[in-house]
Amino acid sequence: MKLWRCGVCGYIHDGSTPPEKCPKCGAPAERFSEVDDKETELIRRSRYTNDLHCRLIALMEQVEEIAEAGIDDDLDPGCVAVFKRAREEAWIIGQSAKAEIRAHITKGKWS
Ligand SMILES: [Zn+2]
Repeated sequence: MKLWRCGVCGYIHDGSTPPEKCPKCGAPAERFSEVDDKETELIRRSRYTNDLHCRLIALMEQVEEIAEAGIDDDLDPGCVAVFKRAREEAWIIGQSAKAEIRAHITKGKWS
């Protein structure tokens, strides 16, 4: 699979050929050029890392839900302390992952 970049808006298309027209800005296929191997590798790496961050964020949201349930359950102070700690840590990890994604987008690592 090759990557193609729209010369007008920078949209990246995955495929053996460029799209007939850019789905983002409507530019014709002729305005697309193939992304070179080095940059293709970088884009694939970034997508992979992005995917890992997204999975981590989803998991941390689940941890927060479980922790909330445990806090509501309120069996004894020891249990509640564990669930409160889990909620805090999950929130920090989730926020950190989101910050990383934002930083990558700002630096233009992804398209
Ligand atoms: Zn475009």
